[in-house]
Amino acid sequence: MARKQAKYIFITGGVASSLGKGIAAASIGLLLKSRGLEVRMQKFDPYINVDAGTMNPFQHGEVYVLDDGAETDLDLGHYERFIDINLSRHSNITSGQIYDAVIQRERRGDYLGACVQVIPHITDEIKSRCRMIASQDENVDIIITEIGGTVGDIESLPFLEAIRQMGLENGRENTLYVHLTLVPYLNTADELKTKPTQHSVKMLREIGIQPDILLCRTGKELSRDIKKKIGLFCNIPPEAVIENIDASTIYEVPILFHHELVDNLIVHYLKLLCKDLDLGKWKEMVQKVKNPTNTVRIGVCGKYVNLKDAYKSITEAFVHAGVPNDARVELVWISSEDIFNDGPEKYLSDVDGVLIPGGFGERGVEGKIKAVQYVRENNIPFLGICLGLQCAVIEFARNICGLENAHSHEFNAETPHPVIDLMDSQRKVVRMGGSMRLGSYPCAIANGTIAHRIYHKAKINERHRHRYEVNNDYREQLSQKGMVFSGLSPDGSLVEMIELPNHPYFIGCQFHPELKSRPMSPHPLFTGLVEAALKYRKLNRANKQ
Ligand code: GLN
Repeated sequence: MARKQAKYIFITGGVASSLGKGIAAASIGLLLKSRGLEVRMQKFDPYINVDAGTMNPFQHGEVYVLDDGAETDLDLGHYERFIDINLSRHSNITSGQIYDAVIQRERRGDYLGACVQVIPHITDEIKSRCRMIASQDENVDIIITEIGGTVGDIESLPFLEAIRQMGLENGRENTLYVHLTLVPYLNTADELKTKPTQHSVKMLREIGIQPDILLCRTGKELSRDIKKKIGLFCNIPPEAVIENIDASTIYEVPILFHHELVDNLIVHYLKLLCKDLDLGKWKEMVQKVKNPTNTVRIGVCGKYVNLKDAYKSITEAFVHAGVPNDARVELVWISSEDIFNDGPEKYLSDVDGVLIPGGFGERGVEGKIKAVQYVRENNIPFLGICLGLQCAVIEFARNICGLENAHSHEFNAETPHPVIDLMDSQRKVVRMGGSMRLGSYPCAIANGTIAHRIYHKAKINERHRHRYEVNNDYREQLSQKGMVFSGLSPDGSLVEMIELPNHPYFIGCQFHPELKSRPMSPHPLFTGLVEAALKYRKLNRANKQ
């Protein structure tokens, strides 16, 4: 039987960054998946880094880790959450990877004396990464590829040239170009302005790409006249000019796109054979996100609290966890340095639960340790993720086991009690990129623990990104004083989860549960924290009355 021809949708962005290209791509993916099509997602990032792992979250937002250990752009998180699939490293391609592959080939002599150039060698490599996804899986119907950056950037030009060629080579009936732009509203003129969109499309057309669909990000509804005007100037039928209006939750975007007939347009343009849309369950979830009965306040105590993108997956995991708890989870971002300077009482006395996320570097660590002590002593529900678990172990070692100056070797190489230490395999590591303990690992959960009650499972798989571990030399002392090692690597050599049984909810995990939370299947550790926080809030309220 002839192989089915995979079709390609390319998503570019214009005018400004942060318009929600990743969410738009993910929303289109969800719509097509809900019409019964096999969808794969991919992002091209035009920076030179080989992956996002070495970038500061301040600049680039969180590093999203996949099952296979790839350290990727945070948009991959949106793709996984919306489409409910597990992606692989082939889904995030950077200029660094493309150039690396081409240069290695050149050194091997594979180009037979040719002068190696951006066109065709770099563009060919980009195209082959696009096609690789279809060649690996013959069931794929649609590959949605988002091009990072904004049209007009110098660095994204080879990617745009490559996708232009893809259209030519695959045929227009197999290729669709979707362009996301901004239609700003000017207060002084009391008008929506179309010129930035016109310019952005003009720039794309100069490169040789005529967009088929325009997604117009806007704060106000687009009238039929505005759509007509944009269509006329951009050479697009007005029905393909789509209003992409600000939504109260990102999970509503696919529903709004469907109202604008986006999926019908795509099905029509690409001549896709598929069923009608069924978004019933997704709509129910969105309703619950928008109209919860309860509210709960969770303090997130971290270092990058001014840049919420640094904790994107955590924020989303709390939205998901609110759904089964019928609660709006209000996140209170607290700088761990403020906690250190002013004491925890000031910041933590009016939250119903606390989360300490992962992190690197010494700044703010003592504040996190103080926060752990406060929540432990005041029975405030607590979840510590990665560095959060490590801080919980340090605090317990110092204040309960009496191990003075206990610390992590990461922050104090001279500590007399390195309760958190480098794994043996990490001692020899000199390269920074891609060398942590990365990706999905199994974990065995002990019977009779809170972790077991929460997961309802004896074996789980969770994603990791760290170098340090609980030091096994201190396990005995810690457990004698009441710390329970509820999750271990299957061979028992690594501590993956800790808990305190005499506390309503005190859990630490060495892995990152937020990376596996999905809106339709919230992560049990987050759901459990929100549930415990709701109980704490009710109890606390009753006590205060
Ligand atoms: N810095 C710690 C380590 O490398 C924790 C990492 C994290 O929180 N992701 O082990």
